[in-house]
Amino acid sequence: KVKICRSAPEQVPGLGHSGSGSTLLGYIGIDTIIEQMRKKTMKAGFDFNIMIVGHSGLGKSTLVNTLFKSQVSRWSSGWGGEHKIPKTVEIKAVSHVIEEGGVKMKLTVIDTPGFGDQINNENCWDPISKYINEQYEKFLKEEVNIARKKRIPDTRVHCCLYFISPTGHSLRQLDIEFMKHLSRVVNIIPVIAKSDTMTPDEKNEFKHRVRKELETHGIEYYPQNEFDDDMEDKNENDKIREAMPFAVVGSDKEFQVNGKRVLGRKTAWGVVEVENPNHCEFALLRDFLIRSHLQDLKEVTHNIHYETYRARRLNDNGGLHPISANNTQESNL
Ligand code: GDP
Ligand code: MG
Repeated sequence: KVKICRSAPEQVPGLGHSGSGSTLLGYIGIDTIIEQMRKKTMKAGFDFNIMIVGHSGLGKSTLVNTLFKSQVSRWSSGWGGEHKIPKTVEIKAVSHVIEEGGVKMKLTVIDTPGFGDQINNENCWDPISKYINEQYEKFLKEEVNIARKKRIPDTRVHCCLYFISPTGHSLRQLDIEFMKHLSRVVNIIPVIAKSDTMTPDEKNEFKHRVRKELETHGIEYYPQNEFDDDMEDKNENDKIREAMPFAVVGSDKEFQVNGKRVLGRKTAWGVVEVENPNHCEFALLRDFLIRSHLQDLKEVTHNIHYETYRARRLNDNGGLHPISANNTQESNL
C-alpha cells in the first residue's frame, strides 16, 4: 500500500519556494522506485556464486549445504560416502535455482577438491586464480561485444569461503600464501572449520591468533577496510571484522532439543546446535553472508575486483578489440 504524504497542500506552485525537498507540493511518487526495483529483481532473479576452498574433510560441502538448507554441494558425506582425492586441484561448479518468497537465486557452488591435499602444494592456487580470472574475461568479452546481451550471465566468483583447519596452533604456510595471492582478485571470507572439535577457550584463543596472523601478513579479507562507504558502514563492518574468522559447525543431522528439531552434532559436551549463536558462529556467518552482505559482495566483485581486471586487460591490450557477434559462439541474435 502506498502512503501518500502531502506536504503543504494548500500552497500554490511558484510562490516563494526554493527547491528544497521538504516543500514538495504534493505526492510525486519518487519513493515507488523501491517497489519498481523489487518487482524487477523478483522477475529477473539474480546470480550468486560461492567458491569453497580448504583441504578435504574440513566440512566444506556440509557447511554449504547447511547454509542453503539443501544439497547444493555434492560429495558431502551424505552423498554416497568417500570420493577419491584428485591428484591435482580440480574446479567443479554446480548450479541450482533456489526460490524463496518469490525471489529466484541462481546459486553456483564452486568446489575445489584436491586443494591442499598434495605432498607438494606449491602453487596449488594457480588453477583457482585461473578460474576466477576466466570468469572476469568471459564477462568482459560479453561487455565489449557489439551485440551484447541485455543481461550478462554472471559467473564471477562473488565470495570465496576459505576453511581453516581447527588445529588450535596457527595458520599453515599454505593458508597464508593462498589468502595473500587470492585476496587481490576475489572476496575472501576465512572461516574456522569444525569448531565443535575445540573447547570454547581454545576456540577464542585460536580466533585471536588467526586474526593477528592475518594482520601480520597484510591479508585483506572481506569486508575490506578500504571499501567501507561511510561511518555507518565502518561501524557495522568493524564489529564483523572483530568477530572474524567465524568458527563454524555444519551438519545435516537433526536432533530433538527442548521439543524442537534442530540441526546439530553430537559431541562429548552434548549436542552442538548449528543455528544457536551460543554454541557456534554458524548463524553469524549466515546472517553476514546472505542476510546483510550478499548484495555488497556482488558489488565489491563488480566495482573493485572486476574493475581492476578490466582496467589491466584494456591497458595491456591497448584497448580490447570489440568482438563482433560472428566471432562468438553464444550470440543472442
Ligand atoms: P569436505 O571434504 O571439506 O567437503 O568435507 P565434508 O563436508 O564432506 O565432511 C567431511 C566429514 O566431516 C563428514 O564426515 C562430515 O560429517 C564431517 N563434518 C562436517 N562438518 C563438520 C563439523 O562442523 N564438525 C565436525 N566435527 N564434523 C564435521
Ligand atoms: Mg566436499
